[in-house]
Amino acid sequence: MAEEKEKKSHSLARKLNLRLTLRQLRLFAVLDLAVFAFAHFALRLSLTMRELGHVLLLTLGAELLLLLLGAMQNAGLIKKTLKPLTDLTAATQVAAARTAGGLDPEQLSDLADRLERIDAAQLDTRLPAASSAELKELTEAINAMLERLDAAYAAQIKFVDHASHELRTPIAVIQGYANLLNRWGKDDPAARQEAIDAIIAEGEAMKNLVEQLLFLARGDNHTMRVSPERLDATEVAAQVLKETALVDQTHPLSADWEGSVFLTADPDLLKEGLRILVDNAVKYTPTGGRITLKIRQEGDSARLEVLDEGMGVAGEDLPHVFDRFYRADASRARQTGGSGLGLSIAERIARCHNGHLEVTSAPGIGSKFAFVLPIAA
Ligand code: ADP
Repeated sequence: MAEEKEKKSHSLARKLNLRLTLRQLRLFAVLDLAVFAFAHFALRLSLTMRELGHVLLLTLGAELLLLLLGAMQNAGLIKKTLKPLTDLTAATQVAAARTAGGLDPEQLSDLADRLERIDAAQLDTRLPAASSAELKELTEAINAMLERLDAAYAAQIKFVDHASHELRTPIAVIQGYANLLNRWGKDDPAARQEAIDAIIAEGEAMKNLVEQLLFLARGDNHTMRVSPERLDATEVAAQVLKETALVDQTHPLSADWEGSVFLTADPDLLKEGLRILVDNAVKYTPTGGRITLKIRQEGDSARLEVLDEGMGVAGEDLPHVFDRFYRADASRARQTGGSGLGLSIAERIARCHNGHLEVTSAPGIGSKFAFVLPIAA
């Protein structure tokens, strides 16, 4: 590496020297021509040979002086031009000397061996502290990376575990009803209808769960399609309220906003996010409790809030409600048919719009979930 740089530096120096020497030769040629012309006129003006000799001596002296000056100038210029290259070479040499002294080849090969032995099943392995300063930095960086990989891998395993568990229940129910159909369905019309209804319902739940899982997986590997456009958040919210009123007549619904609030967002994703919050409000609010959709602009942000007068979330559950498959109370959520994925999807939607999701809740009083998104430019 250093040799290559030195070679480059030499060839550059040669080029520079050649260019500068050519320039000086051109200058001398002009000077000599002038002397010739002078001699020509001098003979006409009948100057003595001695006087002519002085002029020639003067010219040669001037040329010599110019050559010396040029050589000095060249040296300075070449030195200045090559400075970054020489600096780099020096730095490389210093680094090479330091590395040669700091990194013991035996320690390095031991480190490589240890790294080779680490696989997915042993991501909790950490490298022992190294003796030299350079290796210490390297092992610390590798250990930090292993820590991150370990956490990501554990989360992935948990996710697959939960997903399999969630799918196992509806599959078992469908199997049970299919067996029932097989045994009694032909003779008992009531049993047949019950089995058909259950299979349809479980099939629908499974389809929803698989769609939710796919949505999160697309978000994880950055393949989620987001088509942002300038839209009025209050229009999207009004649509969600209208659709909710069609399927739920047990809660009074309110709209709270004054005028338009413009965002740059994907209308389908935003609607999906608001729907998740409103559906939860319906699920976790007793009959008669009010559900309000409130939209405000605060500085550069828009707040899209869903407020309810439901059971609320206990303090210890609050930090976990955005976690995948988390249900504040498993039996309660199972009763309401939730998968524990709704809020993680809503949070993902907020993030892919450069915003976030907030929650404030008081058990027995109600909850407020809010999308905080940047307003349109
Ligand atoms: P789920 O499908 O179970 O509703 P979510 O991810 O949407 O899954 O919500 C996670 C948990 O947060 C729920 O199981 C519930 O315990 C709690 N939760 C969500 N929204 C509300 C709400 N509006 N009121 C009370 N609890 C809520």
